[in-house]
Amino acid sequence: MNEDQRLGRLGNTQESTDSTDKPKKDYSKYFDFTNAKVISEEENKKIIRIAGREISIYDQPDYKQGKRRGKEDVQVLRPDSLIPEEMKGIGNGKKYLIRTYGCQMNTHDSENMAGLLAEMGFEPTEETTEADVILLNTCAIRENAENKVFGEIGHLKTLKVERPELIVGVCGCMSQEENVVNRIMQKHQHIDLIFGTHNIHRLPELLKNALYGKEMVVEVWSKEGDIVENMPRARQGKTLAWVNIMYGCDKFCTYCIVPYTRGKERSRLPEDIIAEVRDLARKGYKEITLLGQNVNAYGKDLEGVKYGLGDLMDEIHKIDIPRVRFTTSHPRDFDDHLIQVLSKGGNLVEHIHLPVQHGNSEILKLMARKYTREQYVELAHKIKMAIPNASFTTDIIVGFPNETEEQFEETLSLIREIEFDSAFTYIYSPREGTPAAKMKDNVPMEVKRERLGRLNTLVNEISAKKNLEYQDQIVEVLVEGESKKNPDVLAGRTRTNRLVNFRAPKSVIGEIVYIKVTEAKTWSLNGEMVETAEVNR
Ligand code: SAM
Ligand code: SF4
Repeated sequence: MNEDQRLGRLGNTQESTDSTDKPKKDYSKYFDFTNAKVISEEENKKIIRIAGREISIYDQPDYKQGKRRGKEDVQVLRPDSLIPEEMKGIGNGKKYLIRTYGCQMNTHDSENMAGLLAEMGFEPTEETTEADVILLNTCAIRENAENKVFGEIGHLKTLKVERPELIVGVCGCMSQEENVVNRIMQKHQHIDLIFGTHNIHRLPELLKNALYGKEMVVEVWSKEGDIVENMPRARQGKTLAWVNIMYGCDKFCTYCIVPYTRGKERSRLPEDIIAEVRDLARKGYKEITLLGQNVNAYGKDLEGVKYGLGDLMDEIHKIDIPRVRFTTSHPRDFDDHLIQVLSKGGNLVEHIHLPVQHGNSEILKLMARKYTREQYVELAHKIKMAIPNASFTTDIIVGFPNETEEQFEETLSLIREIEFDSAFTYIYSPREGTPAAKMKDNVPMEVKRERLGRLNTLVNEISAKKNLEYQDQIVEVLVEGESKKNPDVLAGRTRTNRLVNFRAPKSVIGEIVYIKVTEAKTWSLNGEMVETAEVNR
């Protein structure tokens, strides 16, 4: 997915700006530690010195461990408090800024970090110059996502030189990469703290070490952590909420870094998820999105019960919350029971995001997606039959190693056949440590760009055509806030996830209203508020 699109939720297609025409990255220099001096080595902690800065290493990322899928039981931890006594109130009068890159999972992790910081007394700010703690919650999915973060790390150096007491931390998926952590230790010594995706709950403890010591603190667990319930959480709004239902991914698509950075699949217990959804309903939230990297693998790892996403959705269907979404599902795990439950409608909205990645079965095999084009088409038709009004969106990668013009054209023909309402489109980006990174990245960059351009033209054409079907219709819209482009205009989403812009009093923000569509554009609809609840779509 394109990071900006994902954070703005489903919308239009955009060109990924990855640049693989650059020479292949040589990471070996980041693995050369001949300049490092070991100061002390204990069982749980090693202190080294590089170029004058001491670094306390509690745990470093290890790809071999990260890809192992052990049988050990995952524990559900319910700590009373995650804040050490001496850290309570440490943030009083101080501010924090968390900059989030990447997918909804990161956005939600940032809400947890914000919750932990708030419990220590810190308040949020958007200004780097006001912040006492800055955390970069990073994304590793494509090279351009990583480049943005290294750019930001560079900018923050000036601030750190001016205010040495400022704490700068790097966390999220990039912290789980060996070469990234090595690079920071070697080249970016103004960073104070590096922690990973499995030990977010340890933030207060790690912050304590960073505040009270002079060393850079590194703690990145490679073996996936346990499931920590009761995490304090500062949600970003009062209308939409993310609910994590599972962590990790076991699919190991050959191009993808996620199984290494997020660990093995672990499902939260149904009762914990349902309690969270009930609590959100009580607090007046209008829409929840169930989150997981591979959300319909939910329940496969639960011991002694046969309980999947269909069962969970069926229970959530009965809770009085107006809208329930889920993302992201994998075609391989989309079973008939889930389709049957989704067809009940009600609060289960008519939008299915089902990444296909490619239209040619040979490339799908190279990607280890574990389905063919024909199987995907059959599944899509089955879902469309069961939920006729559903909008259908997808993710596509162009320029995977060995992709021929004919194979790429099969992606185009699949887009025409399914008529996706919209798609996130990406140029393939080799990720160090994944099987595809060992394949020859042999499609020239200008060819990749040209294919992406043709793909986007087609996707946009179909989006525009599909949006025209909304012309003069009355749609149900959940109002999310002011439009990003014009504060006098409000913006919201239909059940099918179409963006709708309209003029209305600000008092309707957070409410469900009815809008008559007056203009259908490629990526959004314009309309006016109406009284009637006679919804056509
Ligand atoms: N779990 C989801 C799935 O299987 O579709 C999506 C996870 S991934 C965070 C989101 C999207 O990023 C993928 O669907 C894929 O299209 C894209 N992506 C992942 N790795 C990529 C890579 N190395 N290069 C380009 N795009 C990539
Ligand atoms: Fe990555 Fe594939 Fe897992 Fe999605 S299913 S997160 S693309 S490995």
